[in-house]
Amino acid sequence: MTNRRITVAQALVGNDYQPSGPVAISIEAGRIVAIHPAQDSAEEPRILAISALVDGHNHARPLSPTSFGSGMKPLESWLPSLAGIPAVDPYLAAAASFGRSARGGCVGVMVHLIRPMGREALTSEVHDYARAASDVGVSIGFAVAMRDRNPIVYGDHSALAAKLSDRFAIDDIWRTETMSPEDQVKRVSDVAAEIEDQAHVDVQFGPNGVQWCSDRLLEAIAGASAETGRRVHMHLLETREQRKWADRTYPGGIVQRLEEIGLLSPRLTVAHCVWARPDELLTMARHGVRIAVNPSSNLHLGSGIAHVGRMKAAGVHVGLGLDGCAFDEDDDALRELRLFRLLNAGVAFEEITPTDAMEAACVTGREIIGLAAGGRIEIGMPADLVLLDLDRLDRDRIMDVDPRHYLFARATQQHIVEVITGGRTIVRTGHVLGLDLDATEEALRQQYREAIGSTRRIREAFAALEPLIGEHYRGCC
Ligand SMILES: [Zn+2]
Repeated sequence: MTNRRITVAQALVGNDYQPSGPVAISIEAGRIVAIHPAQDSAEEPRILAISALVDGHNHARPLSPTSFGSGMKPLESWLPSLAGIPAVDPYLAAAASFGRSARGGCVGVMVHLIRPMGREALTSEVHDYARAASDVGVSIGFAVAMRDRNPIVYGDHSALAAKLSDRFAIDDIWRTETMSPEDQVKRVSDVAAEIEDQAHVDVQFGPNGVQWCSDRLLEAIAGASAETGRRVHMHLLETREQRKWADRTYPGGIVQRLEEIGLLSPRLTVAHCVWARPDELLTMARHGVRIAVNPSSNLHLGSGIAHVGRMKAAGVHVGLGLDGCAFDEDDDALRELRLFRLLNAGVAFEEITPTDAMEAACVTGREIIGLAAGGRIEIGMPADLVLLDLDRLDRDRIMDVDPRHYLFARATQQHIVEVITGGRTIVRTGHVLGLDLDATEEALRQQYREAIGSTRRIREAFAALEPLIGEHYRGCC
């Protein structure tokens, strides 16, 4: 780790991310050791330094599913459509995803691995994810998917299957996991034993969501998490259809049920909660549960807009996730940060401030993936920074303006000059230093073009199934 002194025109420093500058930030052994007022640097461009971001919910998708015909669908159709995406080399898949995350301003990513490539045992495949993270230079949380019910719709799908011709054996394509809860829990420990000695990997239990996991499975996870201290990462109340299913299935309340099972704890992060009610948020806050909010993904998949103001009012700690569905499908965390605030700034007094947004993306994100305290430009904190081109952000150069106004009005990954983690530069002017991201994505595209024919039958089955899924939920249920 290199020692370094970075002089910047402006930095968002301290607990409340107040602009300060010009300042010199001194870095030793990966940490910030001094922040001094400095002379205006003559260097061009002027720099705005902010804390690096952490993506609190992602699935390490190799390329966007939209390129495979999965665009413009609500979550309930989108998920089964993913079966038509063929398997490719897991290292390339992970490296492309992590490379884009770093390029977008993140030094850490929560990977909820829902769709392993499955060409080899998971205990082998996970080494590819760990190696890709290490090559790019990002830290990862790594939640292993767990599920055992409702593979096609929320509830019994036999009536729906009966409407399909025999040509489509949909139970062979969208299968329920048959591994017992105990074996699924053990598989997570096996994965942890393989890769958890690496400092940048935090292995977690990854139940897909309550509608996909039986109570028995969730109980096994809650017990194992309490016993071992291992974190849990799960989707919760993402869509209106999930809300309806939950209200039918758990008349006493889905969150109350999770409380009874013992799953609610500071070890748990739930993604989305777009459809969570205020009393449910209060229960989650009481147990120290975190929520990862995913604004763009919720817009793309017809889920709605999460009430971050309500979450804040309830006292829940909220993180920011990209869920592999950034607004322009480019894993740009800076644009996502803006959207996160804009969708909740000043709506009916539910105001989310720039400080709230920075805290979500920088501090809570780190907690979600089990990283050491940080996410602030303060003495003693890890030197995890994003340096932005303030000259390009301040394109009109009329007068001195609070740089947060530019950050929250117009910043994208195009403004990133450097992404730094532990004092080490991992991205410089759009280039990931640890791997050739363009070549990695091109190699992936080649593999997909060669393999796409192998899933023709699955895609035909999905085309027959898709209208029936729509019918199922429209007539629900
Ligand atoms: Zn997700």
